[in-house]
Amino acid sequence: MTTVLWWIRRDLRLEDNRALAVAARSAEHVVPVWIFDPRLLNAPTTGQRRVAFVQEGLRRLDAALRQRGSRLVVRRGRPLAELKKLMAETGAGAIFAEGDHTPFARRRDRDVEKALPLRLLGGATIHPPGSVRKADGDPYVVYTPFRRSWEALPPPARDELMPAPETLPLPELSEELDSEPIPEEPALPDGVPFEPGEAAAGQRLQTFLENDIYNYAQRRDRLDLAGTSRLSPYLRFGMLSPRRAAVAAFEAIADAPAEASRDSARAWLGELIWRDFYAHVLYHFPHASRRAFREKYRAMAWNDDEAAYDAWRRGQTGYPVVDAAMRQLAESGWMHNRGRMIVASFLTKHLLLDWRKGEAWFMQQLVDGDPAANNGGWQWAAGTGTDAAPYFRIFNPTSQGEKHDPDGAYVRHWVPELAGVPDEYVHAPWEMPETVQEEAGCIVGEDYPAPIVDHQAARKRALDAYKSVQESDS
Ligand code: FAD
Repeated sequence: MTTVLWWIRRDLRLEDNRALAVAARSAEHVVPVWIFDPRLLNAPTTGQRRVAFVQEGLRRLDAALRQRGSRLVVRRGRPLAELKKLMAETGAGAIFAEGDHTPFARRRDRDVEKALPLRLLGGATIHPPGSVRKADGDPYVVYTPFRRSWEALPPPARDELMPAPETLPLPELSEELDSEPIPEEPALPDGVPFEPGEAAAGQRLQTFLENDIYNYAQRRDRLDLAGTSRLSPYLRFGMLSPRRAAVAAFEAIADAPAEASRDSARAWLGELIWRDFYAHVLYHFPHASRRAFREKYRAMAWNDDEAAYDAWRRGQTGYPVVDAAMRQLAESGWMHNRGRMIVASFLTKHLLLDWRKGEAWFMQQLVDGDPAANNGGWQWAAGTGTDAAPYFRIFNPTSQGEKHDPDGAYVRHWVPELAGVPDEYVHAPWEMPETVQEEAGCIVGEDYPAPIVDHQAARKRALDAYKSVQESDS
């Protein structure tokens, strides 16, 4: 074959890109293609920050391609129709792409595969969906045995990572190929703390490995510290190869100077495995993207309280740690994992609102919004999912705040109304005596809301609601 297409989807990188490497090996010329699919762009769950992050990532990918004698060809429309046109225009004999395993992506790729020579290679996970199964061939639905089985597979090795191609010649007629400009709008808002692109991803991984991986276990749950890698947007769009991240984790485990640091690196590897786990779950159980994984919870009588949902979204619930996390999300497009667990528990248990409302809001807001991880996280928090948290585990937002933001620095940063509140009340401002409220410049009910639900009463209401589903099932 002289020419092939490299169809880029969620693998915006040149390094360790199996589809690209195999495409480059199979043909003299590779045409890198990106297609803006209006079905994705206009989906209600598509967040503008993610669109901006991808567009800027594409610009940087295009610049890296140009250094290698290539360029990105950008089209807009249904992939099948656009790919057909491009094959005719370039005379390409095949299309190479990295596997993508969401229900939408699989439907799309099946349609393309029926009509065109599409070769899917690797995927957005470390071990592809389908490769980690029980002895009887069934998929896992619980994380711990999944992890054991995952760890029994040969780990990805550094010498298997594929280097970025040095040159990537285009076919001669490429000058004539139409390419849409990559839109400038929406722009990435200033508050988003992620520089798009493969180079930024690599730097962030390096910084994490040099400074944080060996303290990860101690710091990962601290809301007020930057103790996690913050690689999620890069992994989401393949600006970082998940295999490269896994190789780094395995090497850090092997090189750890002490038992505690080894445990930290192992804990971080465990998070990468969670990412694989949820991708595998959604692959095997696509129904989970629309309804509760566990059947009995489909009968839950969720509340229909728009005012409560609105207060949650705006970070005005009166619970400081919930409000800080929700404002972090709204302002920066990212939220700490502990924050995600706290606000998801609050929405589903304290407010008894349908987890799908929270899932949808997260998808609109998050730069790292990922159908599998987000759905898995929400169903975990709601207790409706695979490895379900017991339904009676209801996070107390006050003690969660005290434990994971001990000095209140996180809360004070994102909820400036509480800046002057003394430490002992910063996670429970409603307990401040009136004189202290005046001194702190924070009158509860005026400057900052009183709690929209009482913790104990909400807890009891949630327990009753979840219990009634348990009983109706038995
Ligand atoms: P680190 O702690 O450094 O972890 C390294 C990587 O492992 C992350 O970048 C991420 O890719 C993966 N990872 C970590 N924790 C999880 C997890 N629990 N599940 C799956 N993958 C994980 N993560 C997303 O990438 N996209 C989402 O849309 C998303 N939605 C979530 C919704 C809820 C309700 C919850 C509880 C969690 C969600 N997560 C999601 C998982 C997790 O919160 C983020 O991956 C993490 O906070 C990203 O920060 P980090 O890169 O610093 O993670």
